[in-house]
Amino acid sequence: MKKAFIYTEEYSNYDYGPTHPLRIIRLKLAYELIKAYGLLNLPDTQFIPTQKANEEDLLSFHEKDYIEVLKRANLGKQISDAYLYGLGPGDNPIFLGLFDWSLLVTGGTLQAVDFVASGNGNIAFNIAGGLHHAHSSRASGFCYINDPVIGILKLIRMGRKVAYIDIDAHHGDGVQKAFYQTDQVLTISLHQSGYSLFPGTGFEYEIGEGKGEGYSVNLPFPPHTDDENYLWAFEQIVPPLIDAFKPDIVVTQLGVDTFYNDPLANLDLTIYGFEKIVKRIKELSSKWIALGGGGYNILNVAKAWTICWAIMNEIELGDDIPKSFLEKFANFGIQDKSLRGERISLSSSILKENRKEIEKTVEYIKNKIFPKIF
Ligand code: ZN
Repeated sequence: MKKAFIYTEEYSNYDYGPTHPLRIIRLKLAYELIKAYGLLNLPDTQFIPTQKANEEDLLSFHEKDYIEVLKRANLGKQISDAYLYGLGPGDNPIFLGLFDWSLLVTGGTLQAVDFVASGNGNIAFNIAGGLHHAHSSRASGFCYINDPVIGILKLIRMGRKVAYIDIDAHHGDGVQKAFYQTDQVLTISLHQSGYSLFPGTGFEYEIGEGKGEGYSVNLPFPPHTDDENYLWAFEQIVPPLIDAFKPDIVVTQLGVDTFYNDPLANLDLTIYGFEKIVKRIKELSSKWIALGGGGYNILNVAKAWTICWAIMNEIELGDDIPKSFLEKFANFGIQDKSLRGERISLSSSILKENRKEIEKTVEYIKNKIFPKIF
């Protein structure tokens, strides 16, 4: 079966600003590393250049007045009442072309949806997508347009049953909210607890409402959760729920801000743990729409999403980063020339404390959610 990789050089035309943690160049780094490993010339690979979504696509989720505000903000100049829509200095800056950028990101996700839903292939990866915090009429957490929601809504209109798995360090609040009252979409978010991280939601007791009760699943982790504790909890919760729910298509948000050396969050995953999680997701997903997400150490982003694309293509990558990549990005001062980097050791007392807390959360989910889904 074919796998689609969706990308365009046009991403590099946009910039959140010199001090903003989300650096769009990370997408180019990921694309170039994937290319350097020769992973875009595989027999089953289809490269799809990203095309913009149209305005109508956005209106399937977002309010008209918010879209009008984003269009005005596209000129990159401050506009009146921007703060009412979450725009302005800080997390969601107004920059030149922000609406065009959002149309591209969302377009890529819709191309991934079309590729998989039409049966052209079984996996599509839109590394620019996964902007899971955007609300229907408010920008939030670096996200203006919620491409996962718009993609999932399209799948629902096609009559598909969708499971959404979000492994970003931050709770996938915008996606959860959009599907909080329906049983057609099972949303599962694994993230650092809202007690210690933006957006301050995603507690285990947020389980959905009405028909949707039991179809919103949250697995919050304490700071410094490591690979082993994370993987243990993932195994307890995610495979049984996917097996029972039997989605037609799995949509994932593959944020990599869960890593120990990410500057914005406090989880302690490594690329070794991440690789195992993504392999498990592949085993669970016969049809898979993969989106990017957070990740603020840009080299981590390139390495992790290269590993994702290799897993999607069932290729085991060697640890030596190709010379052509290192030469091309010599001015980035890349110190660690291995793909997976070093293993780390963490305080065993913190890990033990964390395990107790995580076991309680897992128990809660098994008691409250499992009876509704099985
Ligand atoms: Zn994040």
